[in-house]
Amino acid sequence: MTDCIFCKIAAGEIPSRKVYEDEDILAFHDIKPAAPVHFLIIPKKHIPTLADVGENDIPVMGKIMAVAGKLAKQEGCHDGFRTIVNTGRVGCQEVYHVHIHILGGDKPLGLMLGK
Ligand code: AMP
Ligand code: ZN
Repeated sequence: MTDCIFCKIAAGEIPSRKVYEDEDILAFHDIKPAAPVHFLIIPKKHIPTLADVGENDIPVMGKIMAVAGKLAKQEGCHDGFRTIVNTGRVGCQEVYHVHIHILGGDKPLGLMLGK
């Protein structure tokens, strides 16, 4: 996808502060952190939303889940963290390339949803 910002980040065309990279996935710090630790994990393949993930994507999405805890700890989440996947209009997704937010730090994050 030529006009997808996260595809461009995955291709190295737009800079990011990398947390982890391999042939399938990339983790990088969110540009507008909402917590002391806030990074995103994406598949390098363009998949617009979680609702578009199919059976062929099980290995890459599984890999994202499998590295999340290790990366969170490495970035300073020593006693838990929150994962968020905003999906579509109702989920208030801003960037239509599926990504998992990892949020944490030392203190509890508070309520799940703002009022
Ligand atoms: P959402 O699609 O609502 O789950 O969130 C998209 C997230 O991507 C937001 O938290 C943005 O701050 C973040 N974001 C947008 N552009 C960039 C970028 N160039 N580098 C890092 N994070 C970004
Ligand atoms: Zn993309």
